[in-house]
Amino acid sequence: MMIEKNKSLKALNTFGIDVAAKYFTEIRSVEEFQELAGDKRFSDEKKLILGGGSNIILTGDFDGCVVKNAIPGISVVNETGMAVTVKAGAGVGWHDLVLWCLDKNFGGFENLSLIPGLVGAAPIQNIGAYGAELKDTLLELEAIEIRSGALTKFSAADCALGYRDSIFKRKYQGQFLITSVSFKLTNLSTSKIPYRYQTEYGDVRKTLDEMKVQDLSLTAVSEAICRIRRAKLPDPKELGNAGSFFKNPSIPGESFTALASAYPKMPHFPQKNGRVKIPAGWLIEQCGWKGKRAGRAGAHKEQALVLVNYGGATGKEILELSEAIQRSVKEKFGIELSREVNVVQ
Ligand SMILES: Cc1cc2nc3c(=O)[nH]c(=O)nc-3n(C[C@H](O)[C@H](O)[C@H](O)COP(=O)(O)OP(=O)(O)OC[C@H]3O[C@@H](n4cnc5c(N)ncnc54)[C@H](O)[C@@H]3O)c2cc1C
Repeated sequence: MMIEKNKSLKALNTFGIDVAAKYFTEIRSVEEFQELAGDKRFSDEKKLILGGGSNIILTGDFDGCVVKNAIPGISVVNETGMAVTVKAGAGVGWHDLVLWCLDKNFGGFENLSLIPGLVGAAPIQNIGAYGAELKDTLLELEAIEIRSGALTKFSAADCALGYRDSIFKRKYQGQFLITSVSFKLTNLSTSKIPYRYQTEYGDVRKTLDEMKVQDLSLTAVSEAICRIRRAKLPDPKELGNAGSFFKNPSIPGESFTALASAYPKMPHFPQKNGRVKIPAGWLIEQCGWKGKRAGRAGAHKEQALVLVNYGGATGKEILELSEAIQRSVKEKFGIELSREVNVVQ
């Protein structure tokens, strides 16, 4: 295990923010973490666990130790009839895991294709897209408590997954390093029950029709989703970003009724609990931010919800832009937008 000093994090965060870490190391096993735990350059310092850096905003040089999780490995750990349990190391690329499962004809991840980042970070915000969430397939995960070094198992229920939320963003924020995640998937090769594909969300059905797909398959759904995502979202390699910057707010039914009379065209999604979800991108667009630049940062020209680094923007500049957007939305609609992206101070 090598600990680097003054390591640039520019290539390690998808915003491309040019800051450095006082110390930086990669761990490839639980044992390597235990070795690291005994080193003062880790134990005495502020700590940041890093995955693919696709959901963080670095506000300055990190005065502490950054630990990149690179624990590898994907395996089938149990198979009973059509139910299959797959375990992946936290350092596996999320989309690599999706591709591995597609190749084996294991269903459950196809709608989550092409989400950047690593497996270990996926439970942190319960990644979701196109009508699916990690919650639908999570079985359990293993994590090391950073303070004590104890390896602990969390069941799916223990993780308290919600909309872009989990116990690791709340009570246990910064306290655990996830080492592996296990999922319950469906083996379509052995399943006798027809598989329920989710194609009703967004443009999935339309894209499958354009692709002239006659018989649905996991690969076809995944390919449709990859096409939609490539067309819609800026590629961080070309334009720094972290995907959706804010969560879609959900407001009480009465507040929605009042707003809807002023904005009858407001898109909205009633929830089971009586609240109504409003797309944050629409709210931001209505405030005139779509395509607007603030120095070296801006709101993307196609997706107002995606804040971008046009080159050389600092984390602080992007954060200031995000706060200005939050103020506009609050003033115009009385709605508080909360961040999806994790701020690293
Ligand atoms: C173009 C683009 C599109 C995106 N689309 C989506 C989408 O459709 N749906 C969606 O949900 N998200 C999306 N995201 C956000 C992002 O990809 C996910 O949140 C992803 O899970 C982040 O993974 P990461 O490895 O990059 O995490 P990082 O950004 O490295 O870390 C995120 C947080 O998790 C913590 N963390 C990371 N790894 C571990 C670990 N092993 N143990 C403990 N804590 C850890 C970090 O400390 C940090 O707080 C998108 C991002 C981009 C850039």
